[in-house]
Amino acid sequence: MFETLSKAPGDKILALMGEYAADSRPTKIDLGVGVYKDEKGVTPVMSSVRKAEQLMLSNEKTKSYLGIAGNKGFGAAVLDLVLADSVDRARVRVAQAPGGTGSLWVLMQLVNRARPGATVHVSDPTWANHNPIAIGSGLKVATYPYFDPATRAVKFDEMLAALDKLGPDDVVLLHGCCHNPTGANLNNEQWDQVAASLARTGALPFIDLAYLGFGDGIEPDAYGTRKILASVPEALIAFSGSKNFGLYRERIGAAILVARDGEQADVTNSQLLNIIRGAYSQPPDHGAEIIRTILEDADLRAEWEAELAEMRNRMIVLREKLAAAIRERSNSSDFDFVADHRGMFSLLGLPVEAVDHLKAENGVYMTSDSRINVAGIPEDRVGDLAEAVLAAIR
Ligand code: PMP
Repeated sequence: MFETLSKAPGDKILALMGEYAADSRPTKIDLGVGVYKDEKGVTPVMSSVRKAEQLMLSNEKTKSYLGIAGNKGFGAAVLDLVLADSVDRARVRVAQAPGGTGSLWVLMQLVNRARPGATVHVSDPTWANHNPIAIGSGLKVATYPYFDPATRAVKFDEMLAALDKLGPDDVVLLHGCCHNPTGANLNNEQWDQVAASLARTGALPFIDLAYLGFGDGIEPDAYGTRKILASVPEALIAFSGSKNFGLYRERIGAAILVARDGEQADVTNSQLLNIIRGAYSQPPDHGAEIIRTILEDADLRAEWEAELAEMRNRMIVLREKLAAAIRERSNSSDFDFVADHRGMFSLLGLPVEAVDHLKAENGVYMTSDSRINVAGIPEDRVGDLAEAVLAAIR
């Protein structure tokens, strides 16, 4: 039977990781893969996570099934974290899912049950996995204008004009904060306008919230999500705990749905649970129980928030240092946008030849679209990196 298959395209990031690993130059710099790294270049287990795991090990009484929606305490804690008081909880349902990706997957399936073949409008550009997840769920994909390669900021007027033309059969995928791959984000006033547009057109907001707390803080990063929820009758949110809790391999996320009223929420949720049951039956517990333990315990929560702030502030400092180093060496403000961007990534807007040059000449690795992971910038070599970038575009 398998002779009918041809080879699927390989994953570009994994290929880049392989190339980086095979590069023997000690001066090489990895700005490719999308995981947070500390100043030693490692992705550590957070101390709040370690402590929660120790508590779990001594307190756990059973490994019996949890149920289709997963860990209930985790779901409630994530709703408090993400929604605060933006929306009446009677209209909200949540199911734990394997990562932000798993959450996106089950929610896209849900959209396809409600409106088979509907169009999901994604930002141009967007995270490389959005398209396959939507298509794999039976939906269509279109793009709305987002990143302006000239200013490296959001083309907001064009974005809003495109959103204003949508209708109740459309789905709008928005990055709640820390846009991947660009690093360019909406300000609060722009979120207000997007929320008003969605309320006017009836298009369904679908928020991908994979980096809460990685931009300016938990509260500021949740602004857009909460504003939209307060403005529209229906919404979907795919939350990920991979980055902000450093739980990448535990595969922990939450699929959140907001319906018109409680009755509609129950019906919609029954479809979501039915999708999960037919896909993987139930989610794994470990990551969820870690997050529940941390969020429900005042001391652990304070420790986690401090660790999250440390990661966030380190990325902001690296952004400022790189922008300053390029400004000093070039006498221009062309790369000041790096300091204005937020989250783990910035799209530098380099031509592919410059990306290839950086890899070949300097051992600086980034994805071919010129996205850098700012957490990968070695703090003591910001000057080298600035010089390499300028040489590559000269
Ligand atoms: N959405 C975006 C925009 C992402 O960048 C990521 C992680 N790369 C995810 C969702 C999902 O992450 P995970 O499945 O690892 O939780």
